[in-house]
Amino acid sequence: MRPGKKGMTMAKRPETTTARIRLLAKSGRLAAAMMAALVHASMNSASAANAGCETQADKLGVARIVEIDAQGGPIFGSYTKQEREDSFLGAKEVVLTFDDGPMPWITRSILDTLDEACTKATFFSVGRMALAYPEVVKEVAARGHTLGTHTMTHPFNMFRLKPDVAHDQIERGFAAVAAAANTPIAPFFRFPGLADSHELMAYLQSRGIAAFTVDVVSNDSYIGDPKRLTELTMREIERNNGGIVLFHDIKRSTAKALPEILRQLKAGGFRIVHLTSKTPMQPLPDLAVAMSDALAKAASKSGKPATLMPFYGTTGPVVSQSADPVATQAAPSAAPEGPNTTTAAATTTAGTMATATAANSAVPISQLAPAPRQRVASTKASRPIDKAEWSRATHKVRAGKRSRTIVLKATAN
Ligand SMILES: [Zn+2]
Repeated sequence: MRPGKKGMTMAKRPETTTARIRLLAKSGRLAAAMMAALVHASMNSASAANAGCETQADKLGVARIVEIDAQGGPIFGSYTKQEREDSFLGAKEVVLTFDDGPMPWITRSILDTLDEACTKATFFSVGRMALAYPEVVKEVAARGHTLGTHTMTHPFNMFRLKPDVAHDQIERGFAAVAAAANTPIAPFFRFPGLADSHELMAYLQSRGIAAFTVDVVSNDSYIGDPKRLTELTMREIERNNGGIVLFHDIKRSTAKALPEILRQLKAGGFRIVHLTSKTPMQPLPDLAVAMSDALAKAASKSGKPATLMPFYGTTGPVVSQSADPVATQAAPSAAPEGPNTTTAAATTTAGTMATATAANSAVPISQLAPAPRQRVASTKASRPIDKAEWSRATHKVRAGKRSRTIVLKATAN
């Protein structure tokens, strides 16, 4: 049983772990345009990715940008037994995330689909995959998406590893993806298999890294039929009324299903929230050098295409997809509660807001929701917040009622 399990005494993080989130409320079109500027002004592909998005209201787009201050090592998402931050998402807001890549023939298809919808996502890339396909990592960043990491080699049992081994997995993953991207990446991390632990969370906090679990599991690791994947994913998103959605950019079915999933999100009135980081990740200097050397060495072997395959699964350029496993066996158990109920929790006065956010007319998080823990502090927005728009999901307890076994079987992210 891990520390932090619901029902047990939660270890309080120190005050310094306060997660400050700047909520940049933007129109979808403006947000899409901003993302290109934020990543790399010189990246022509970023401009290309957003070409035409400013004038196409029929596109899914980006409804809002949430800038995460990872300094205190917060953890977001409901699939965790650790003490977590309140969700920064409102009703019908969705964060798209893709794990385990990059894999060129999958990731690029997903990037094209995201561009077509004028929307943005967060990619939790695996270090060794990044070293194998650095050009794809660069492309992810250049097209305006956020790059986080997912360890170096994707061990599923991180909480059982010796601490120094687990820490090395985390650090090498960041160093490898940052080296491959050749541009700063976000201090955003997702545990393989969502297998976090109190001890490893403490390490992330010491390094100023934010952890992200999920709210909705697409189960694309187990579902090979794009139509069925679309149906089940949308069912879960509807049931959860949005949330952080887990996909994998090493899965053929994901790439095939994504256009229809995005179309249905738009049709269903869901809005995309794009995550950015207030500050970039600072990889350990020695590992940064080592990863750059590894990349240079690999590049010297010109003409040799990378042959790295996924660390699990059957996805590949020439491997035909086998029949779907029985999805009902892989699907998470039904949530004990229904779709998110929402609650208006505007308790902060306008005067407090003005005091807290003088510089940019932002809004503290206390206006958005009750602060159940001391470490939840300021959330800022660049425009006044509409109470209805920002009505918050009630605190989810589903993860706490889920057994670890079920979570691991269900996600294998
Ligand atoms: Zn994974």
